[in-house]
Amino acid sequence: MRDRDGLDDVLIESKLEACPHCRRTGALIGHGVLRGYAEQGSQLVVRGRRLLCANRGQRPGCGRTLSVKLETVLSGFVVRTLTLWCFFQAVLSGLTRRAAWLREARDALSLSSAYRLWRRLGRAQSALRSRLCRETPPPTCAAREPLAQLAQHLAVVVASGLVDLFAASQQQLQRGLFDP
Ligand SMILES: [Zn+2]
Repeated sequence: MRDRDGLDDVLIESKLEACPHCRRTGALIGHGVLRGYAEQGSQLVVRGRRLLCANRGQRPGCGRTLSVKLETVLSGFVVRTLTLWCFFQAVLSGLTRRAAWLREARDALSLSSAYRLWRRLGRAQSALRSRLCRETPPPTCAAREPLAQLAQHLAVVVASGLVDLFAASQQQLQRGLFDP
């Protein structure tokens, strides 16, 4: 998971990195930009870069591809982390999920998708929590709602002052928010 500038560095760094499939170094080359639909409209936007572990000519690779995604991308979803973060914050502030969706996310996704994302987040939270615990112990927290505790834990693990803590955590932990 990278930010915009980091995505270009991937091409340079990849020359020194091992392929996650075959573990060989020196075979990864750029293999185009990963695009997908924008949250709104039918426009295509950049979601990351694709790398190829080259196996042609003198290259020692395995021929498989891998992708490096922008830190704002939620794997498998068109919606980006910022929208989910704002929706999440709005629910934690006391709004119903429907009201939170109306305020923060209706341009980006349907109400049923918002419910689905919410359930997905609920299912992902224990794995996410253990990843956060490996970084920093959870802060003492007055909130009893587990997701509110999760939000506070996120804030101490990733650099504070950022707007989108889901993107920040994906980049810092190098794992997708919904990863098992
Ligand atoms: Zn390989």
